[in-house]
Amino acid sequence: MKKLNKNFKNLADDYLFAEIAKRVEAYKNEFPGADVISLGVGDVTQPLSLKVVDACKAAAMDMSTKTGFHGYGPYDGYPFVKSAIVDYYKRFGVDINADEVFVNDGAKNGIGNFLDLFDPEVTVMIPDPVYPAYVDANVIAGHKIVYVNATKENGFAAMPPKRCTADIIYICSPNNPTGTAYTVEQLKVWVDYALENDALIIYDAAYEAFIDGRSAAHSIFEVTGARDCAVEVCSLSKTAGFTGVRCGWITIPMASPLNRMWLKRQSIKFNGTSYIVQRMAESALRGGYDDVKKSVAVYKSNAKLIMKKFDALGIEYTGGVHAPYIWFNCGIDSWEFFDYLLKKARIVCTPGSGFGKNGNGWIRLTAFNTPERTEEAVKRFEPFWKEFIDVRDKLFTNL
Ligand SMILES: *Cc1c(COP(=O)(O)O)cnc(C)c1O
Repeated sequence: MKKLNKNFKNLADDYLFAEIAKRVEAYKNEFPGADVISLGVGDVTQPLSLKVVDACKAAAMDMSTKTGFHGYGPYDGYPFVKSAIVDYYKRFGVDINADEVFVNDGAKNGIGNFLDLFDPEVTVMIPDPVYPAYVDANVIAGHKIVYVNATKENGFAAMPPKRCTADIIYICSPNNPTGTAYTVEQLKVWVDYALENDALIIYDAAYEAFIDGRSAAHSIFEVTGARDCAVEVCSLSKTAGFTGVRCGWITIPMASPLNRMWLKRQSIKFNGTSYIVQRMAESALRGGYDDVKKSVAVYKSNAKLIMKKFDALGIEYTGGVHAPYIWFNCGIDSWEFFDYLLKKARIVCTPGSGFGKNGNGWIRLTAFNTPERTEEAVKRFEPFWKEFIDVRDKLFTNL
């Protein structure tokens, strides 16, 4: 075939989670029946709220009646779910308008598709380390990428570099993989910077529901000035266990030309999120929200188990408080540590280097397993870590 998109050649060889699956598979083939615990992949495990499932059943029944049947819906989502989202934002004092909310089938798609609105010549600024989809979507689009460093020195909360060459700035808070979340004050620095440099912030709040109280920002729109320079991407995937259900949204202020452009784009390339799923989303944000909070609490208590052990062992880490991720320093090549942890403790982690070059020497653990399995993993971790510290200098190259 002629004239394929050459940018695909610039994508990293193997998707991070494919490589992890390959290594785990090889291990299981070598040691059949080994009791492997995964604190690796970032997928939820708690089942859906019964209230959300009831909403699903009721919506399915609607579809069986003449009056309740729904065909193509609005490109930007039904008013009932948009108003539930608007009300949800009121919880943290953010006023948005229903016309600013565009319902879609998830944040990853939203993030990737949004690039349709920009000139191919744009430069994007992406934190390192971060959720790999930002980089990959921009590689496919052939955009120029500059990185902003999140490191131990700045507590993995990257702040603006002096000179701005970027047209688009990605911010992920709470951050996947480091679990760090920006305060309103820190975000204000980013917003002022974007305004000064006429840049757009794409703010990914996929883990908003994990934020502890008001100690971090729940939305970029808590920040004065953000309405003039930001859009916000969110999703029910991690909030309400919707990774297999698929529902998210993008909030784009009315005053931005992107608002009308996105509606146009969606009307051309998207025919809306399913009616049934939107009814489920409505329930997750309204009647089912208490159940949703309970599932989030399970993950947060898993994170606490890990944090407590890490505190006791003196392991350097971030995260766990505002996110289902704990990000810790292993001091050696991330993939070497991955193999050693799998071999010695039968625990699967995610190598930090898969999220950017600053991630090397760091490891992401997720709090998404069950409480029982997390507890078992924590139990295994203590003797493992003591032994690892003993042999680290002998067996591995310290970074
Ligand atoms: C999981 C995740 C998403 C993807 O969400 P979907 O709605 O399931 O597509 C987006 N952003 C971050 C940072 C994530 O970790």
